[in-house]
Amino acid sequence: MTDPAAPAVPAPTTAGDLSDVLGDLAPEQVRVRFPPSPTGTLHVGNVRSALFNWAFARHFGGTLVLRIEDTDAARNTEEGYASVIDSLRWLGITWDEGPEVGGPHAPYKQSERLEIYADVAARLKEAGKAYECFCTTDEVDARRDAARAENRASGYDGHCRDLDQDQRAAYRAEGRVPVLRFRMPDRPVVFTDLVRGEISFLAEHVPDFVLVRGNGHPLYTLVNPVDDALMEITHVLRGEDLLSSTPRQIALHEALAELGLGPGAPRFGHLPIVMGEGNKRLSKRDAGAGLGEYVERGFLPEGLLNYLALLGWGIAEDRDVFTMDEMVEVFDIRRVNPNPARFDLKKCEAINAAHLRALDVADLTERLVPMLQASGVLGAEVTPEQRALLTEAAPLVHERIGTLGEAGDMLGFLFVDDDAFVLDPTDAAKLLDDQGITVVKASHDALAALGEWATPAIEEALRTALVEDLGLKPRHAFGPVRVAVTGKRISPPLFESLELLGRERSLRRLAAAQDHPGQA
Ligand code: GLU
Ligand code: ZN
Repeated sequence: MTDPAAPAVPAPTTAGDLSDVLGDLAPEQVRVRFPPSPTGTLHVGNVRSALFNWAFARHFGGTLVLRIEDTDAARNTEEGYASVIDSLRWLGITWDEGPEVGGPHAPYKQSERLEIYADVAARLKEAGKAYECFCTTDEVDARRDAARAENRASGYDGHCRDLDQDQRAAYRAEGRVPVLRFRMPDRPVVFTDLVRGEISFLAEHVPDFVLVRGNGHPLYTLVNPVDDALMEITHVLRGEDLLSSTPRQIALHEALAELGLGPGAPRFGHLPIVMGEGNKRLSKRDAGAGLGEYVERGFLPEGLLNYLALLGWGIAEDRDVFTMDEMVEVFDIRRVNPNPARFDLKKCEAINAAHLRALDVADLTERLVPMLQASGVLGAEVTPEQRALLTEAAPLVHERIGTLGEAGDMLGFLFVDDDAFVLDPTDAAKLLDDQGITVVKASHDALAALGEWATPAIEEALRTALVEDLGLKPRHAFGPVRVAVTGKRISPPLFESLELLGRERSLRRLAAAQDHPGQA
């Protein structure tokens, strides 16, 4: 956005010391990922993660990997996958490796990588880094409850860590089917989070965990870090809700690296929780939580992304509106605020409106076309005449809309055929009473006599006929005319609207409105 009044963007931080972010990496070696589970439409929290990873990758000239975490077959659908791809395309968040674009670590859908996980699991077991656990869920739960009652650490207790071959055979003979459990190291896991600083987890708080179910199904606990390792991810930026899985993942990365799989644990940065209504985490049911709503309402992707960037980050103290180019230029993960961020739909709308106002008319017109098609104002084929009319009409709504979707309501009257044109019943009942009909009739006659059909002449003719001759206050004079020609009490500016609608259509509508039954 080129707002000359906007304060300057702070200087890029790449100039400073980045060793805590990059270590020994060259900036372009940065590899981040966005790994959605395609279970439905993306949530604004997911989109915020995608945005921060994208901005981080673009800032350094690194790589963003898109990976589809679809091993939970029951909850994933082809539709969910298509919706992820469409959503990212709509947002303009581009990925460098992943589905649709390919890359050296393909396939990028986890459902197509099951052999890889089976192989890695076998190697972890072989090396003693994971072991077969024969405990049933009931047994694990019962021992956990007992430990809790005695105030002892209450995770999995390591029961099967050191079973010998005979013990395992005996369990098998009982018909038990083992899960594969990871052997956590008996020391704390300490790491420096790029957002939250040093974090440590005591060993007793991170018990051995299941990697593969008894039926051979690999779990998120295995596939997510395995892919991060094999795809050589250098930085994991994701929501704070996943922080509790980080010590397990770090330990697994270290074990994998010892087996020659991957470069060791990536750096982590946990983005703040997004709070919704009340003091609760934004839930899928909260207004504004799903991306679909924004697409349907005709938000600008850059407006939504700008707002989502503010959920934890900011470009400058006194500046809320910025472009994605500006964000990429200065994005620094270390400046993300670890405190919970409050989601505010009103503010999101205001930021979107600011981006809308900054569009030039040609751009606005282009973006209105698909929205007007979606709402049925325009058909699949847009004629050159319709496009020309839209180009002239767009400036009339530009300052009045907060989303592209609002334009359909305001501009519909210009594109609808006279025989399909209907008046809003409530507005008509209110404004086309006896006096309203008198106003409409006087307007019709004044405009019918008009020589030149242009805004100033239209305005003058109506003011003379209604304000001077009929002695009406302007407030009362123009409402009935507006309803008669646009169908609604709220419309783009009246005189310009009449000019765009054209003489014949305007007169026809003013004539037709005189037959309106009114309020009675
Ligand atoms: N598939 C996980 C999710 O969508 C990925 C979490 C992660 O970033 O590690 O929640
Ligand atoms: Zn066990």
